[in-house]
Order: sequence, then C-alpha cells, then structure tokens
Amino acid sequence: MEIIMAKYGEIALKGQNKRTFEEILVKNVKKSLAGLGDFKITRSQSTLYIEPDGNTDTDAAVGRLLKVFGLGTVQKCAVFPKYWDVITTDGADYLYDALKPAKTFKIEAKRADKTFPLKTPDIQRELGEAVLDAYPHLTVDVHCPDVTVWLEIRENAAYLNPERLPGAGGIPVGSSGAALLLLSGGFDSPAAAYMTAKRGVRIDALHFQSPPYTSERAFLKVNDLCGKLRDYLVGIRLYTVNFTAVQEAIRDYCPEEYSTVILRRLMIKAANMIIKGKRYGALITGESLGQVASQTMQAIACTDAVSDVPVLRPLIGMDKAEIIALARKIGTYDISALPYEDCCTVFTPKHPKTKPRIDEAEKIEERFNFDELLEKATENISVRDF
Ligand code: ATP
Ligand code: MG
Repeated sequence: MEIIMAKYGEIALKGQNKRTFEEILVKNVKKSLAGLGDFKITRSQSTLYIEPDGNTDTDAAVGRLLKVFGLGTVQKCAVFPKYWDVITTDGADYLYDALKPAKTFKIEAKRADKTFPLKTPDIQRELGEAVLDAYPHLTVDVHCPDVTVWLEIRENAAYLNPERLPGAGGIPVGSSGAALLLLSGGFDSPAAAYMTAKRGVRIDALHFQSPPYTSERAFLKVNDLCGKLRDYLVGIRLYTVNFTAVQEAIRDYCPEEYSTVILRRLMIKAANMIIKGKRYGALITGESLGQVASQTMQAIACTDAVSDVPVLRPLIGMDKAEIIALARKIGTYDISALPYEDCCTVFTPKHPKTKPRIDEAEKIEERFNFDELLEKATENISVRDF
C-alpha cells in the first residue's frame, strides 16, 4: 500500500498552541485535496498520514500538498508490516523506479518503535545489503548519494520511501488571522499574497477597476491570478470595486505630481471602508521600497496615514528579480506578464512626487468631496469566491 506522509514544519515547535495549529493544518490539507477522491488522515508525532481510500491519484495529491503552508516535507511511502524479510524483499521491489537510474544511494533509518528487534545501525546496514543484492549496479555513498532511501519503523508499520520533497514551509493559513490584499494585475501583489499566507494569514483580495480605461481582459487577468493563488491561500474571495469616478476626479482636481499618492490614499481609504465590521486585521500591498517613485518612505507615510489597520508590505526588501523568480515559482508570472493595463497605469503622471507630504495631500483632497465618491464606490462591490 502506498500512502503520503507529510511532516509538519515550524508548527512542530509551537508548544501550547500546537493543537490549534494542527487542527487548522488538517482542515487546510483536507480542503486542498478536495476533488481528488477520499483520503483518511491521521496524525501522530508531528506527521500526517494521508491514506488514499481507493482509486486516487497520489501524485496529484502530492502536488497539492506541496502548496500547503505548515508542511515541512511531503513524501509518498510504501507501508509494510513490521516483518524484516517483507521490508527488505518488497521494499527493494518498491524502490525500483528510484534506484534503477541511480548510481549511488544511502539508507537513513529511524526507529521510533523501540521494541523493534533490530537497532538503527543494523537496519541501515541490512537494508543496504538487500538493496545492493537487488541492484548490483549501485554503490553506497553516505555523503552525496543520488538517492536517499528513508525507512521509518513506527508504532503501526514500517514506512519506506526514496524521495522526500521539501514542503511549502511556513505556518498554516488561518493561524495568524486574516487580511485584505490590494490585488492588481502586476507581478508584485500576487507575490505579496504568497509571502503573507506563508506566515499563516488567511487572505482575500480587493481589486479596483476603472472601465472603460481598463479592459475586461485586465479584470479576467485578476480573476486568473486568484485561481492560481487559491491553492496556497486555501481559497480566496475577490472583491471588485469600480474606481473610474474616483480616478477621473483625481485627474480633474489634483495636481498631477500628487495624483499617484492620492490614488494610493484613496485606495487605502476605500479598503478601510470595506473591511469595517469584517474580520480582516490588516491590508497587504505589493510595494517594495524604492521600486518606483511612489514607493518611497514619504509616500508610504502618506498612505499609511489614512489607514486604521496596519498595511503589510511583505516585499519591502525584495528586488524585482527576486519577486519575478517568486512569481514564476508560484505560477503567477505568465498571467501577470500579459499586457492588459490596470488602473494605475491609466492616469500615470510623468513626474510623480517622490517626497509627498501628508499635510499637502490632505489639503489637495479638500478640493473635492472624495469621501462621497468612495462611499458610492464601496456600496457596489462585486464578490467572487475561488
Ligand atoms: P504590482 O506588480 O502589484 O502591480 P506595481 O509594482 O505595479 O505592483 P504599483 O502599481 O505602484 O506597483 O502598485 C502598488 C501596489 O498597490 C500593488 O502592489 C497593489 O497592492 C496595489 N494596487 C495597485 N493597483 C491596484 C488595483 N488596480 N487594485 C488593487 N490594488 C492595486
Ligand atoms: Mg501595478
């Protein structure tokens, strides 16, 4: 029988809260496997045993589990009864696909069941010999083997596997509260979602669109991004707000050099109105310090001044190249690379102020009743769950 064994990452260290973390993790694992068939999930010693119930695609399940935050490693394993000759004979057969193309290997054994008659070094030696008998082309290399074969002798059974995949790490989504992501169609905000979810934050997204300046395709792009992010985020709700009137008013009533920072402030204000009475404890943006003129310390101070909740910027210290690499890893790169404009590019000033002042921004905003426009805009929100 083949099962999947997934070991906790950091949550194994969480002391008293461990139980809550475990429960959230199991819930997230179940959600992530939805649609792939039935699984029996049990847990013991900081490990989840995920047993397919019948005809399920274990490779697809492994693929999903690699995106579940809180898991440190994920591995398919063969389960054997704890009889040594069964383990060595059937075990050697099970390892065929992994060992046939390899040149070197080593055995790593762990003996959690202290009543098992062989001691760890004997297990390693004897299984090593059995493998060498079955695959005479191999040699042992304990330092840098092509394949490491893991054997764990546990309470109920022996678990054997030739490949231990690194999991997503982090802590389970939902164990650090919830936040609302300002999601554009660019590379940065999806990467910001990943980084924050990795630290246990449950995320929903808010997108501002400005038709007819922004197209339906720009909106579909944001939907596709949510579709990509949902595995890591264990589901995501997308709120969409029409910002056309707000952007037009900025264009008509604000000096061009302040338009970027005022747009940011109004987005943050709108986001604050939307989260009122909801469970979100913070906002998230994809800003990174110094990346563009609007992402300076002074611009950040101007936008944060209108927020009642913290604005998290998990990409603050990342280079564009690092963000792009992350976007590729999480599968959002190809979608973000599509050319359709988002609302920020529509009215971009030629020379945005790099050191905007809060008092100046406040004075400019008094020229027009923006609050009324924001109220109107946020009364009409469209919602879609992914
Ligand atoms: P991104 O790659 O995420 O678009 P960017 O480098 O283009 O970021 P800006 O356009 O200055 O930077 O946007 C900064 C942040 O503001 C974005 O990361 C996002 O969090 C938010 N944002 C920008 N445009 C929108 C939008 N149309 N809807 C919601 N949030 C937005
Ligand atoms: Mg952008």
